[in-house]
Amino acid sequence: MHYFEYKQGELYAEEVPLKQIAANTGVPTYVYSAATLRRHFKVFDQVFAGVDHLICFATKALSNLSVLRLFAAMGSGFDIVSVGELERCLRAGAQAQKIVFSGVGKTKEEIAAALKAGILMFNVESLPELYAIAEVAQSLGARAPISLRVNPALDPGTHPHISTGHRTSKFGVPLVQILDYYEQARKLDSLEVVGLSTHIGSQITEARPFREAGEKLIDIVLKLRARGFELKYLDLGGGVGIRYDDEFFDLADYARAIVEPLRELKLTLIAEPGRVIVGNAGVLLTRVLYVKDTDVKRFIVVDSAMNDLIRPSLYDAYHAIWPVEQRASAPLVVADVVGPICESGDFLARDRLLPLPQAGDLLAVMGAGAYGFVMASNYNSRPRPAEVIVDGNRWYVVRQRETVEDLMRGERLVDLSPE
Ligand SMILES: *Cc1c(COP(=O)(O)O)cnc(C)c1O
Repeated sequence: MHYFEYKQGELYAEEVPLKQIAANTGVPTYVYSAATLRRHFKVFDQVFAGVDHLICFATKALSNLSVLRLFAAMGSGFDIVSVGELERCLRAGAQAQKIVFSGVGKTKEEIAAALKAGILMFNVESLPELYAIAEVAQSLGARAPISLRVNPALDPGTHPHISTGHRTSKFGVPLVQILDYYEQARKLDSLEVVGLSTHIGSQITEARPFREAGEKLIDIVLKLRARGFELKYLDLGGGVGIRYDDEFFDLADYARAIVEPLRELKLTLIAEPGRVIVGNAGVLLTRVLYVKDTDVKRFIVVDSAMNDLIRPSLYDAYHAIWPVEQRASAPLVVADVVGPICESGDFLARDRLLPLPQAGDLLAVMGAGAYGFVMASNYNSRPRPAEVIVDGNRWYVVRQRETVEDLMRGERLVDLSPE
């Protein structure tokens, strides 16, 4: 559910016509709905009602400062995967005590920065990383709070690129090693073992993988308790899927699969939702440049491309594409919606049934809030889009469109001899 709706044939974000935003800021532009962000955060938080818990929004899904600030104001913590995200969260007003640090490749500099900031815990993914954190903590005269991230060896039933809980994935500590790693951690004075964590994948739309992960987490916690470990936190990761096309996953099923079974452990549950909070809260506004007909296909060429939204190219992801102004006379046609980039993989939709637009029409690529702008690049020397937040009848440019000048910042012209 979201607050992008048609009123008299015109698509609005809450109370603001998208056409008005496009006229003011130009396109391509990402537009987020504050009411949708708030609602999704509250609904997800509600799943944990009655259980000690902390929601740590997965910063990497949408890391615009104003979005992070809104979540911080709503009491959210944050899951970060780099020092850049740490800095963003702190600048947005996050409490360091509500930040968890995930990822397989934390550098010593990143570990030191997070320790100095005073984060809640590091989710550790390997033995060498455990030693690195211990060493950095010791050199700073600190104790690092850690949790080990287990790879529960299951099939999350999602796209291979976003599946992290499989036995062969680079993520987490294998089940067969996890208890031994805890024993190693216990021997290191500069570490404080506070939790157990996992994250099995993304865009999961069935209960089974969560139920299986929950069962494995319970088993590990009980074994750790038998060995005298007293954990405070159990971090379930993120991964809850959303509706892009016709998929459907009820949060009540998520609650039954993993939250309810884990509550008996009487630990503070941490969740790291990203997509489920922000995915449907954003659209990418783009304009039709040309309608190109060949003898075999029809292409709608638009002014945004895989550098602005890479999910279709990278994951074969489906994004609904809606006209910003409905045209009663437009026939339904099948077309590819493609960008100007010089790659055949540059498309936003393939063989899509949609009302035939005309050059100059605006389109909204729906469900673009998560892993949208954050994955944008400058490929083909294209400036990245602007970002706008709508709140009721107000709207704010929360990130200016990049300029061509921005693209060359930091570059130095060196005259190399042509010989
Ligand atoms: C990406 C990620 C998340 C968020 O995943 P979603 O599918 O967006 O909910 C949570 N935790 C970790 C460790 C991640 O890497």
